[in-house]
Amino acid sequence: MYDEATLDALRGPLATLAEGHADLPAFQARQGVDLAEPLQALAERLQDNYPYAHPFYAGQMLKPPAPIARAAYSLAMYVNPNNHALDGGRATSALEKEAVAELAAMCGWGQHLGHLCSGGTVANMEALWVAGRETGGAAIVASEQAHYTHSRLSAVLQLPFFAVASDRCGRLDPVALEQLLQSEKIGTVVVTLGTTSSGAVDPLPAVLALQQSYGFRVHVDAAYGGYYQLVDTLGASATAAFAAIDQADSIVIDPHKHGLQPYGCGCVLFRDPAVGRHYRHESPYTYFTSDELHLGEISLECSRPGAAAAALWATQRQLPLQPGGEFSAGLAKSRAAALALYHRLQDSANNIALFEPELDIVVWAPEAASLAEVSRLSQRLFDGCARAGLHLALLSLPAELLREYSPELTGSESEVTCLRSCLMKPEHLEWLDRIWQCYSGVQQGL
Ligand SMILES: *Cc1c(COP(=O)(O)O)cnc(C)c1O
Repeated sequence: MYDEATLDALRGPLATLAEGHADLPAFQARQGVDLAEPLQALAERLQDNYPYAHPFYAGQMLKPPAPIARAAYSLAMYVNPNNHALDGGRATSALEKEAVAELAAMCGWGQHLGHLCSGGTVANMEALWVAGRETGGAAIVASEQAHYTHSRLSAVLQLPFFAVASDRCGRLDPVALEQLLQSEKIGTVVVTLGTTSSGAVDPLPAVLALQQSYGFRVHVDAAYGGYYQLVDTLGASATAAFAAIDQADSIVIDPHKHGLQPYGCGCVLFRDPAVGRHYRHESPYTYFTSDELHLGEISLECSRPGAAAAALWATQRQLPLQPGGEFSAGLAKSRAAALALYHRLQDSANNIALFEPELDIVVWAPEAASLAEVSRLSQRLFDGCARAGLHLALLSLPAELLREYSPELTGSESEVTCLRSCLMKPEHLEWLDRIWQCYSGVQQGL
């Protein structure tokens, strides 16, 4: 179930690491003597987690890190570098700059300002914080389907926030956005490339067209979907959105979502390095584009794990961020799995397939006469599949959205519980037959 090769892979590199300090007086670090008892006890406690690594875990956005990421993180933990400052993490600061430059290059940016942080929430907070400063505190807009963090972060930053409607596929509606732009002073539009609930990709080209007339900043939240720009099998609208990503003012991508990293790895990127002045006023502009960039002075967080940078750097060395490479092939398989599940749902008589997945998340509802019955059946299917070892997720959707696909549904509820599956692992493709067998077996048994 778990890869054990990483356990052995560390011995040689650990000796190499120690050789780097061979000139110091001999010193024997405390050896891990009494590890067995607490570790065995921990292993037993850890059994009480979903088996995320298994293809039958097809629920939330949870994806095990690549073996290289786990091993590189562990190796770096023998040093435990702190990327707040060069004193705390000289080597890993350099690795972070290299890894982040590769992420920026993937988005079409050479010059940029960016760094890693604890996750998408902090990354988005920095982007909105800079956006607020650049626009004199003008309002933030995101779609109803954007991550809830944007409205909450706007409140933290004391910036006005508006939500605009999304269309029947969960994408920001440019017509609704333009109406808002006509009546309110908007500083920044958040464009989500891959929503958390359904993987919908907002129409970035349409938003950029509105930017021409109304003049606002564009922040792309691609925490989930960002890596999908490497995949060439997306639909036309998603392809066009990702192709325009380099026009954004700031971008967030979470390596700990689809980048095969352990948690604690988000990334924020700015197109204009001069925004670094908001972090450190007294520094001259040139400081931020020089090779001596000091990560602690362009980040809101102070202490950060250098091990996260080490893991990302090593992963990108093994699995480069290239279209057509092994890493992007894995993403393409996830998307193929999602399309395959969508088509099975479409072909089955007792399920309502909603919009075609744009990335690798599928959203659907069991066929029923009323909204209440859909919610009840979704819950029973979720529980029944879990008992059979197949882990799906539940999603609450506006009843109006479901009625777009099934107008005859009765009931006055405003929300309805549906089913959702994030098919994030490449293995999901070859396991799809068994996943479907399990799901349809549970459904027939209800
Ligand atoms: C996951 C996610 C976030 C929040 O990121 P965390 O890493 O969980 O803090 C923000 N936006 C989108 C689109 C996401 O999918």
